[in-house]
Amino acid sequence: MAIQRTFSIIKPDATKRNLTGKIIAKFEEAGLRIVASKRIQLTLAQAQAFYGVHKDRPFFDELCEFMISEPIVVQVLEGEDAIAKNREVMGATNPEEAAEGTIRKEFALSIGENSVHGSDAPETAAEEIAFFFSGLELVG
Ligand code: UDP
Repeated sequence: MAIQRTFSIIKPDATKRNLTGKIIAKFEEAGLRIVASKRIQLTLAQAQAFYGVHKDRPFFDELCEFMISEPIVVQVLEGEDAIAKNREVMGATNPEEAAEGTIRKEFALSIGENSVHGSDAPETAAEEIAFFFSGLELVG
């Protein structure tokens, strides 16, 4: 498998509980390198645009309100098979279904407040990275 880049968000429930470092440690232990990182607070319009694919889902409004409730940390992670590896380290969307040792198993509060976002495919990774970062901010 080739070296890939993926996009990650440390979500408001995690930044609020001061878990940023513990989550980053999980990425690094899995062999993912952080090639870009910044702490930001989304506007409602930005959250709605980012999660546009979910706009017709029942949880959309609640999800967007949650995502703007506190600052988040957005990152680009790089490594061998980075998209799948990050999804593995994150664990299942619902923490009750997440495997032992995963970020969501250890830290997530609920299916909505589940501590991390990670791209699910190469196309979405490229789109999500470009949504938050300019080329100049990616330092491999
Ligand atoms: N989500 C939610 N309720 C649900 C399903 C998803 O609040 O029933 C939220 C949750 O924060 C999740 C995000 O919407 O991480 C995106 O959902 P997706 O199915 O893409 O899960 P992910 O790729 O984040 O595991």
